[in-house]
Amino acid sequence: MNSRRLACALRATRVFIPVLVALVGLAPVAHAALVTVPYKGPRQIQDLEAHGAQVVAFTKEGVDIEAEGAALAYVLSRPYPVRQVPEIQGPFASPEAIDANLGLYHTYDETESALGTMVSTYPALADTIRIGRAYGPTFRNVTAIKISDNVATDENEPELLYMGNHHARELMSVEIPLGFAQYLLDNYGTDATVTNYVDTREIYIIPVLNPDGLAYVQANHTGPSNTWWRKNRRNNGNGTFGVDLNRNYGYQWGYDNIGSSGSTSSATYRGPSAFSEPESQALRDFCEEREFTCWLSYHSYGELLLYPWGYISAFTPDQNVFVALGAALAEGTNYAVGNPALGTIYLTNGDSDDYAYGEIMTKNKIFGFTPEVNSNAQGGFAPAESMIQPTFDLLLNMNLTLLEYADNPFRVLGPYEPGQYVVQAPYANGVNRISWTANVPGDPNPVATYDVEGCLDPSLSVDSCTP
Ligand SMILES: [Zn+2]
Repeated sequence: MNSRRLACALRATRVFIPVLVALVGLAPVAHAALVTVPYKGPRQIQDLEAHGAQVVAFTKEGVDIEAEGAALAYVLSRPYPVRQVPEIQGPFASPEAIDANLGLYHTYDETESALGTMVSTYPALADTIRIGRAYGPTFRNVTAIKISDNVATDENEPELLYMGNHHARELMSVEIPLGFAQYLLDNYGTDATVTNYVDTREIYIIPVLNPDGLAYVQANHTGPSNTWWRKNRRNNGNGTFGVDLNRNYGYQWGYDNIGSSGSTSSATYRGPSAFSEPESQALRDFCEEREFTCWLSYHSYGELLLYPWGYISAFTPDQNVFVALGAALAEGTNYAVGNPALGTIYLTNGDSDDYAYGEIMTKNKIFGFTPEVNSNAQGGFAPAESMIQPTFDLLLNMNLTLLEYADNPFRVLGPYEPGQYVVQAPYANGVNRISWTANVPGDPNPVATYDVEGCLDPSLSVDSCTP
């Protein structure tokens, strides 16, 4: 079963190999252009970024790159086809079409208000926790909502986490976790599946990890969506602003300059030190306080589901768990599932999922996944508001499946094979005997029944087995 799933994952990675048509006459322009190039490996990304281009998204079709002037000329001179990404139009909203309150997308203030309404409407099931604050002078809250039966009590139940908006401009990444909180509360008591999960899990949801960034996007969201703000709003002191929160986590922080940058002006600036930012500190402290087993950290875009390692092209010791759980989570989405070692995404370091899995001294191991929702064609960072509900619906199975395995992610592997079995034929008087050692100690999903296939004229006698 595992090898079949691995094969599925490997097959899924192939679809990103792009078939691109070179655009003749795509000339450098004064303003930034968004182009898609085929992915050639980490050195390509490092080279393009060294020439001033910025990676905007990694998708199943290739890498979306933002560049202008000399940087764009350099990208266009590369010996591979470069495709210009068309302006978002037709059924998809342009950023300008979203009003000052981001339309149906939730602003920071609207998110805080929505969480407050959930608590007042469902006081027995929901409570909010301020886990941290952004930089002054705003000191905006980083707010988590806890959803569980007996919400005021810290019960001995599996804990899991959903997050959004590490990156300010990724508006859909707010809507999926926030909408899921509302879904759980609205369906408690009527939907048996939801009721069971809320009764047996402690569910934490942080819709906005980067409140200053989101407020900045709200105030500066006209223009091409690819130029929207990504980082937080730290004043770097040299005329530049912002740290990429998803490059600021403390596991293998700053491992190299591939996928994170030491330059303050870069969109992937990793910060002056690991956990230098109040927002990433908030999540770190929350993880040390709680016992999360798994999480989904929503981002956009690319139609991917990513897992560690991010900092090197290698599998974690639990690659089989990530493959099996990733396949279960992504069922029905057509997302490509994997990590840099499988070619599903470029290398990064200091990201949240590597910290989730890798840091085991100050907290327990967490199986962290990053869904990159929506596609370039669906509107990139600014899909039409009419895409919010379909995107939520598509990802509902992913959200529910994480709840299913939150008690023990290893359970997704299914029962272990019997440790050993012996067939003796003939045993005595023409009788064959089959014996096996059942249920390896520690098996998270022990065998309940065995099937014997191809047995002729059997008779059964059970000796001193221990049930
Ligand atoms: Zn992101």
